Amino acid sequence: MGNTIFSKIIDKEIPADIVYESDAVLAFRDINPQAPVHILIIPKIEIPTVREIKGEEHSQLLGEMYDAANSIAKDEGISEDGFRLVFNCDDHGGQEVYHIHMHLLGGRQMNWPPG
Ligand code: AMP
Repeated sequence: MGNTIFSKIIDKEIPADIVYESDAVLAFRDINPQAPVHILIIPKIEIPTVREIKGEEHSQLLGEMYDAANSIAKDEGISEDGFRLVFNCDDHGGQEVYHIHMHLLGGRQMNWPPG
């Protein structure tokens, strides 16, 4: 039983526009999109921040999240032009939900620095 709104989405207790699901990973559209395509890719296990990621333990999971991102980017038609993948970490990183999530953003030109 997780502690965040994303656990409720995983458990299908609250709705989400799901675009990808496997045993380990879920992806759904961000409720407040910052680009024409804005999808969150999350592990089904709760890892609060990227600080808790351990290469030895989570490499397969992270690999699947990147595979999902590439596959979804193709499905969404943003793969060829390019896209951005972002993990926010804690306060200065701008993290609001403490269940790690990869933002997949695309469909427009991204700016740098991100602000
Ligand atoms: P972060 O600031 O990196 O923690 O990003 C959290 C993201 O989750 C934000 O972009 C929110 O718009 C998004 N979000 C929060 N609640 C929901 C929800 N119920 N369904 C989809 N996206 C959500």
